[in-house]
Amino acid sequence: MKITLLGTGTSQGVPVIGCNCDACTSVDSRDVRSRCSVLVQSAETQIVVDVGPDFRNQMLKAKVNKLDAVFLTHEHNDHIIGLDDLRPLLFRNKNGIKIHAESRVIKDIQKRFEYAFIPQPYPGAPTFVVNNILDGEMIKVGDIEILPLRVIHGQLPILGFRIGDFAYLTDTNQIPDSTFEQLNGLKVLVIDALRERPHHSHFSIQEAIEAVNKISPDSAYFTHISHLLGPTSTWEKDLPKDIFPSYDGQEFVL
Ligand SMILES: [Zn+2]
Ligand SMILES: [Zn+2]
Ligand SMILES: [Zn+2]
Repeated sequence: MKITLLGTGTSQGVPVIGCNCDACTSVDSRDVRSRCSVLVQSAETQIVVDVGPDFRNQMLKAKVNKLDAVFLTHEHNDHIIGLDDLRPLLFRNKNGIKIHAESRVIKDIQKRFEYAFIPQPYPGAPTFVVNNILDGEMIKVGDIEILPLRVIHGQLPILGFRIGDFAYLTDTNQIPDSTFEQLNGLKVLVIDALRERPHHSHFSIQEAIEAVNKISPDSAYFTHISHLLGPTSTWEKDLPKDIFPSYDGQEFVL
């Protein structure tokens, strides 16, 4: 299984439009962070978690020509607004590309992409097939098994995903005990770490380190990074052993 971090930046991306801070003007390629998304590929199956505003460029960069399923963590704009750009992949895949999400999230995308769900959409509109998922209930897509896990994002209960020995917990500042129990024996954990100071809906660096220590994966990678953290090279050196910054395009083979 190959996992590619397509995007590792917070909702505005890095660089931020009009910002001249050290992170936004950095020449380190790791400081160019598109909005969060992950591609998971096995020999026969390809799935993506979250479809944000940078989805089209992410698909072109990763040279994806087929997707079997989309999983959504939650309905915030930076995780769903690229759904219309699924069209070339929908037209190519006669079996359809199911969108798996919690019922609240599905209701939200039915409102925001209403034109795709009306009885007679205009020619060329995407046709989304949706599927309700629940935390703790394993889903199988081709030869990939995905376990949705409950995490809390401010006031919003959202989903993280465990796929084999890999787990992806973006947009969270609280992990319920029942989820910690399902994160044993991970090789790779990708987890939200927005910035230095606490935030109402994202882990700070220190909070993320505490969560990683509790989960104790072989290695952990921080995502949903804000420019407020500064250039990657300035904060990566302070991270504990086996915790690393992520970057767009980073691959794991598990
Ligand atoms: Zn987000
Ligand atoms: Zn900046
Ligand atoms: Zn969010």
